[in-house]
Amino acid sequence: MSQILDEVLAANASYAKGFDKGELPMPPGRHFAILTCMDARLDPAKYAGLSEGDAHVIRNAGGRASDDAIRSLVISYKLLGTREWFVIHHTDCGMETFTDEVMRSLLRSSLKTASVDASGWHDSGEGPGSTEANYIDWLTISDNARSVVEDVTRIRRHPLVPNEIPIFGYIYDVKTGKLLEVPQATEAGRAG
Ligand SMILES: [Zn+2]
Repeated sequence: MSQILDEVLAANASYAKGFDKGELPMPPGRHFAILTCMDARLDPAKYAGLSEGDAHVIRNAGGRASDDAIRSLVISYKLLGTREWFVIHHTDCGMETFTDEVMRSLLRSSLKTASVDASGWHDSGEGPGSTEANYIDWLTISDNARSVVEDVTRIRRHPLVPNEIPIFGYIYDVKTGKLLEVPQATEAGRAG
């Protein structure tokens, strides 16, 4: 049996023992949504002060405004009534450490976990790999603030997003736990 599985189930048993949130309504009580990175160091419930039932948190690698992230945001507003959105990327994001071409090349040679050192990413070499990676836009990041601006702008201009929703752009600093505004993003995300 997986040790992680044991740990997760034990943690859940303890959570469920004191559980008293069974009557919460489905729509987020504080009417907002956060799009952020899946990075393990980020805990949106803590960095943004959320309790169960408060807000939608949509996470993916980089916190990027992919088609699927936009799908979730549109559902969040259209069916579940959120009224303000945040796009929150972060310092030291793994998405800054590679490019589409690097990822495609790594996956072409091996599907196994790669390693990283000062000279970049390397494969263990154990094949087979796959060229399927060529068909995925990995949405990597070369400049944190620019990626926040791009994503807020993309969401703002999306035909399924009404212009009364303000979209705020922030970078979470993994060293301090602070949210730093990207003013150009918030400006781009201003409600119309
Ligand atoms: Zn990240």
